[in-house]
Amino acid sequence: MEKQSIMTLKGIGKERAKAFERLGVTNTADLLRLFPRDYEDRSVITPIQEIREEKAVCVRAAVFSAIRQIRTRSLVIFKCTIADDSGEMHIVWYNNPYIKQMLKEGTEYIFCGKVQRSAGHWELQSPLFEKPGQNKLMGRIIPIYPLTSGLSQRNVIDAVTQALKMPLEEEWLPHSVRMDFKLCDLEFALRNIHFPQDMESAAIARKRFKFEEVFSFTLRLAWMKQESAGERGPILAKKSWLDEFITSLPFTPTGAQRRCMQEICADLESGHVMNRLLQGDVGSGKTAVAAAAVYVTVKNGFQAALMAPTEILVNQHFANLCSFFGGTGIRLERITGSMTAKQKNEIRQRLAAGEIDFLVGTHALIQKDVVFSNLALVVTDEQHRFGVAQRAMLNEKGRHAHKLVMSATPIPRTLSLILYGDLDLSIIDEMPPGRKQVKTYAVTESMRPRIHKFMIKNIEEGRQIYVVCPLVSESEKMDLENAELLCKKLQKTVLSRYRVALLYGSMPQKQKDEVMREFVEGKIHVLVTTTVIEVGVDVKNASVMIVENAERFGLSQLHQLRGRVGRGNDQAYCILFDQLSSDVSRRRMEIMCQSNDGFYIAEQDLKLRGAGEILGKRQHGESSFKIADMFEDLGLIQKTQALAGAVAAGTAGLTTEEAEKISAHIEGLHDAEIAFN
Ligand code: ADP
Ligand code: MG
Repeated sequence: MEKQSIMTLKGIGKERAKAFERLGVTNTADLLRLFPRDYEDRSVITPIQEIREEKAVCVRAAVFSAIRQIRTRSLVIFKCTIADDSGEMHIVWYNNPYIKQMLKEGTEYIFCGKVQRSAGHWELQSPLFEKPGQNKLMGRIIPIYPLTSGLSQRNVIDAVTQALKMPLEEEWLPHSVRMDFKLCDLEFALRNIHFPQDMESAAIARKRFKFEEVFSFTLRLAWMKQESAGERGPILAKKSWLDEFITSLPFTPTGAQRRCMQEICADLESGHVMNRLLQGDVGSGKTAVAAAAVYVTVKNGFQAALMAPTEILVNQHFANLCSFFGGTGIRLERITGSMTAKQKNEIRQRLAAGEIDFLVGTHALIQKDVVFSNLALVVTDEQHRFGVAQRAMLNEKGRHAHKLVMSATPIPRTLSLILYGDLDLSIIDEMPPGRKQVKTYAVTESMRPRIHKFMIKNIEEGRQIYVVCPLVSESEKMDLENAELLCKKLQKTVLSRYRVALLYGSMPQKQKDEVMREFVEGKIHVLVTTTVIEVGVDVKNASVMIVENAERFGLSQLHQLRGRVGRGNDQAYCILFDQLSSDVSRRRMEIMCQSNDGFYIAEQDLKLRGAGEILGKRQHGESSFKIADMFEDLGLIQKTQALAGAVAAGTAGLTTEEAEKISAHIEGLHDAEIAFN
């Protein structure tokens, strides 16, 4: 099928097209891959007489009475009576004057809605309806789509119905693969994911699309891995450089740090380009490991670069690395957005002339006109996750340089191997000795006065505090503490003598930087914020982390938040307000109070709430697998990954034509679908 703009469909004009675009749909192919989030079975018609309980039903009946209009103080109620062969019942609608024009007395319709008992009668509440045989909203299993403002279920159903009448995309999966994975063909899948004959067909269709999603993702990674595997990289001999670096450290590296340094050095010496992910919990000492790689690189006469996502993090890294490399003769510089053009120019010139060994900066570093004379190592510090799209770009721009990605999000190994299938993995699974554990307490609302006292005590002793809320401003969930409100409350009441400031994601960047700077400088005592703070800020003097509605966060996320404190010498505390106190939330809080091990917590999170919590799809609204679930579908995912590896390596036993069809399909995918995170 040729992809056509959805504007070519009847009923879709500019406005609706825009609404569709918000759902990631711009053409008919996208539209057919806008999968229902649920279904409602409206295929069964219940005779009126057989209605016995309050639930959703479909009845086929004629309008038997005129439509009456009843006005109350706040509502206009429309009522009528309908009847089938077995009996009669009432229908009510509220504030919907169109009903009078849409329903004709004496005509038969199918009505679907919830029945309720009212004054001794069964009453249908605001049902949907259509004429028998129309089979649009009734008489079959109806898909329920994710919506956005300006789009109704009926709009999407209409559009999908039209798209399904056009020539469909040709099957692109080889027969052998479909047999092996027991997958239906594409046409069946497309028709039945939208309008299934029965629920079983819907499940069969879903399975096929889960496979497609996972296969596309893992194959892209396998291609990336293959591409870089063949790539020659500068040979950076470890020699005695690594020992020299280790001796220069102010501490003894942990066993895990040593192992990771060795793994990295083996890559650097191999003659092939390194593509390695260094995973380690907050505070596990990733910087020292990366610095070892930098040291070896520079001692071999090459240049290295380190990129961090924000300017704050660049400055933090720069300060840390300066202390690592003080006295080693390594010429370290940084380049940031707030430098003057002249300063930046000077850095660029010295870099190109080979007078800088190691440059630290934001991602702009490899995108802009920064020219290295002989760059051999690029370290990326992603406090968060590193998306496939970014990885692809880095591979493009940093050709022939070794690449080390640092991630502070502990992810269970099973998941890492999938999500980072293109990278080799080094894990620091051991903390430096003598680390004080962050003391963690789960508390309920009744403890609030004591917590306030505790905050004041800490401020008086010169420490700083984070308060994290799940929402920024008042939304439909009025009961959730929200940052704005809480900040005002604290400012006006218990903490009126101190400086309490607000920081949230959608604040203008300049203002954000300003607040952050003041917090770093200790001018702000309490920072009320949202999860924006999760991203790698290091303020050693902040030693208390308070999380409101902690039950709303994933465990991994709570762990990340907790990692913001306990970075200095003071004992640090994490207070989790559990406003729900359900059995599950109590169990989850217990895990947090007992463990400081990010990998353990991630495993538990995976068991209790599924992969979405670890990967943060709910909190960040990042796209993730749309229909496959990293936890439930792990078996399928692993088998699919193995196939992807074989397809990339050309060992899957496919014909050239089959392999080409696969490539064409995957390369033609909408980017939104594959931009995993
Ligand atoms: P992260 O993995 O979160 O990036 P860092 O590299 O910033 O952690 O290290 C956290 C702190 O621990 C730093 O102050 C660092 O100097 C220190 N550190 C790292 N490794 C060790 C070690 N083996 N022994 C003692 N302190 C260490
Ligand atoms: Mg770090």
